[in-house]
Amino acid sequence: MIIAIDGPSGAGKSTLAQRLAQELGFIYLDTGAMYRALALKLLRQAVDLADDARVNEVVRQTAIDLRENGGRLEVLLDGRDVAAEIRTPEVSQMASKSSALKVVRARLLELQREMGRRGSVVAEGRDIGTVIFPEAEVKVFLDASTRERARRRYQELLAAGRAVDFAETFREMEERDKRDSERDIAPLRQAADAVRVDTSSVDAESVAALVLDLVKKKAREN
Ligand code: C5P
Repeated sequence: MIIAIDGPSGAGKSTLAQRLAQELGFIYLDTGAMYRALALKLLRQAVDLADDARVNEVVRQTAIDLRENGGRLEVLLDGRDVAAEIRTPEVSQMASKSSALKVVRARLLELQREMGRRGSVVAEGRDIGTVIFPEAEVKVFLDASTRERARRRYQELLAAGRAVDFAETFREMEERDKRDSERDIAPLRQAADAVRVDTSSVDAESVAALVLDLVKKKAREN
């Protein structure tokens, strides 16, 4: 079975996907982490995104994988876990910029579909229900007000010990959502057959319970 969870940043996708994966024993496929890992490499190598040949070369020479290790998701970039390094505002912005490029999306699409063949998965991202797994049995589109989403991201960054400014977090989030929604290839969009859930004032537990009901219903039908 494939569960697809899409939506803008801070809508609660990771919290929901992790809970579902744990509850159901499914593989957790955090596609945003894969875009982030590649973005980290592009930043480290100071790659100019306008330089197609160079981007192409780096994409071809990069190995990205996800692995569960003792309840924690390891994000492997060329074999090294970069799970902590990819959660910075700089990487968020670079991921949003580089994810608009055709070669980047084509490569990650391939990797993600391959991971989808490893077993039942809960995949979260922007284009899971529309492009990566259009055949997913359960599709959820999570959303929340921009203010609430920015508040969550701000709290996350503070908890990680980063010196951040709320107004700045808010602005960066709006910018990233706009870019993700307006790009030509696989923009952030709700699939026609996805269930939309606004998480602005619903706790994570209730959202998970609602989606678990959908999953059980689907399993019975099949
Ligand atoms: O979900 P997360 O915030 O970690 O994703 C980082 C960035 O990666 C997003 O802003 C988006 O540009 C890109 N992304 C994407 N498609 C996905 C997942 C993430 O374009 N399926």
